[in-house]
Amino acid sequence: MTRPLPYGRQVIEDDDVAAVVAALRSDTLTTGPAVAAFEAALSKVTAAPHAVVCSSGTAALHLAALALDLGPGDAVIVPSLTFLATANAARYVGAEVVFADVDPDTGLMGPEHLDDALARCGGLAPKAVFPVHLNGQCVAMAALAETARRHGLAIVEDACHAVGSQQELSGGWQPTGACGASDMAVFSFHPVKTVAMGEGGAVTTADPRLAARLRSLRSHGMERDPARFTQADEAFDADGSPNPWYYEMAAPGFNYRASDISCALGTSQLAKLGRFMAARTELVAAYETALAPLAPLVLPIPKVGHCRPSWHIQVALIDFAAAGISRAKVMRALAERRIFTQVHYLPVHRQPYYRSRYPGVTLPGADAYYDRCLTLPLFVGMTEDDVHRVAQALSEVLG
Ligand SMILES: *Cc1c(COP(=O)(O)O)cnc(C)c1O
Repeated sequence: MTRPLPYGRQVIEDDDVAAVVAALRSDTLTTGPAVAAFEAALSKVTAAPHAVVCSSGTAALHLAALALDLGPGDAVIVPSLTFLATANAARYVGAEVVFADVDPDTGLMGPEHLDDALARCGGLAPKAVFPVHLNGQCVAMAALAETARRHGLAIVEDACHAVGSQQELSGGWQPTGACGASDMAVFSFHPVKTVAMGEGGAVTTADPRLAARLRSLRSHGMERDPARFTQADEAFDADGSPNPWYYEMAAPGFNYRASDISCALGTSQLAKLGRFMAARTELVAAYETALAPLAPLVLPIPKVGHCRPSWHIQVALIDFAAAGISRAKVMRALAERRIFTQVHYLPVHRQPYYRSRYPGVTLPGADAYYDRCLTLPLFVGMTEDDVHRVAQALSEVLG
């Protein structure tokens, strides 16, 4: 029986298991040293002054929206070609989503799409943009930030696909997460992403004030720093020293903490990022060669010059109409060969919730990308032979 090829999966090695076991045997299962160690490691990898780990990429997006004080009457511009959570984060805080279009070939949002979305904000106050580094390729952040800043927008990069990627800014190349052209960047460490924590996420920022707010919001809105206490009568003893039990809350936060168990796994995995990225890059190159004979029916995602990508998924753009077979039929036929594909993503503005909340939105770039995209298997541990097996199967199925 041929082995199954999922579109993505984690790689857990013996030292990852050992790291988790050590965390389980330690004195603290949460809010302990493994959390700080993971944050330090992520800071280093992303060159971000501050990294705040949390329970998921979705929680990270929610925390970012809260830290910016987004709320009712505000517009958050989100590319339609993304996972649900990017848009939902705006709705969690009562802000409205204005969906932006994307490039039909890369799926990335550009400054022209931001301009177009800004023109559709109506009576809302445009406050923020959440660009998405789709597939592990970065949005052109220098150009996008220029437009965003001109309109006074805050910028939160959804880098859930893109840990390890680098982006070209005016000052040179920077790791995604360093926030050289943004306020915050958000990561996910879900098992299909390049680095796995089980469930986990993080927000990085260069702004110490945002970092402090994110830390407080991730843990109920609790403030434990006596320098920031506001109720002296409750907070301090008669001699002026802080009461040992005291903490205070200015506004309710959440429990979005990540445990020491998942952070231990995250640190162990993050140390392998270079190796994981190199393996994925090689597989993507192998796909490009193996699929080349199927052009122009099957095309790779074009590479953008302003990004050194960290590939999260392997997407092929397929002209299903010209091939005379539906995408659903192709996926079923591949699944019969134990090749499991996926579609990333149905444009979020076409989800029933958003369709009824914001009727009449049409985004031709997102639709054109969606019509052709198919995510093929890509994971560390796949071989070049596996890539050839996928290409061969695709060639047979497409006729
Ligand atoms: C995975 C993902 C998220 C959500 O991350 P979780 O850790 O699964 O909550 C958000 N945005 C994008 C683009 C993602 O791929």
